[in-house]
Amino acid sequence: MTKLVFATNNAHKLAEVRAILEPEFSIISLSDLDCSDDIPETANTLEGNALLKATYIHEKYGLDCFADDTGLEIEALGGEPGVYSARYAGEDNNSYNNMSKVLSLLGDNTNRKACFKTVISLIMGDKILFFEGRIDGDIALLPRGESGFGYDPIFVPEGYLLSFAQLGAEEKNKISHRALAVNKLVDFLKQKIK
Ligand code: IMP
Repeated sequence: MTKLVFATNNAHKLAEVRAILEPEFSIISLSDLDCSDDIPETANTLEGNALLKATYIHEKYGLDCFADDTGLEIEALGGEPGVYSARYAGEDNNSYNNMSKVLSLLGDNTNRKACFKTVISLIMGDKILFFEGRIDGDIALLPRGESGFGYDPIFVPEGYLLSFAQLGAEEKNKISHRALAVNKLVDFLKQKIK
């Protein structure tokens, strides 16, 4: 069985990936490694941050590893918040404040085009690979819906009238940026064990 570390503390992401890849791959979490290090995320691109996290674990534990990084890119804000999505509102960052900042910067701008991007970086042996998932959509005028997290209440995926937070987890997870990136990683890994 191939061992692979998923460098995340997010139990939900971990369960999702485990359900797809086990038992052919044994997916090891940071808590399985007893790793509570503050892993650096200081790059200014999603690829850079995903690679920083994967490299940190690979170098510390000598294990094959993958890590992900996600951002919301808004066209009229020049691609912001992008890599800074988690902490867009500064010191008081939380979903509510991050969304409020986006909505007030956009004002009544009619260009509300945006996309979510997830980049996964995989270090396997001497190879480094990247897998990207992207979903296009629009920023709503006001937050709508209760489910999900982060910017879900203000993101309306293309072809839908409801926000991610109104669609609910099951529907969102079929079409999301993260699902698309994870599926590409899974396709690659499944090829390896054929
Ligand atoms: P992470 O790289 O997955 O930790 O994501 C960074 C930030 O992007 C999060 O803190 C959220 O603010 C935002 N984000 C990531 N994925 C989603 C999503 O699926 N919906 C809404 N916001 C998200």
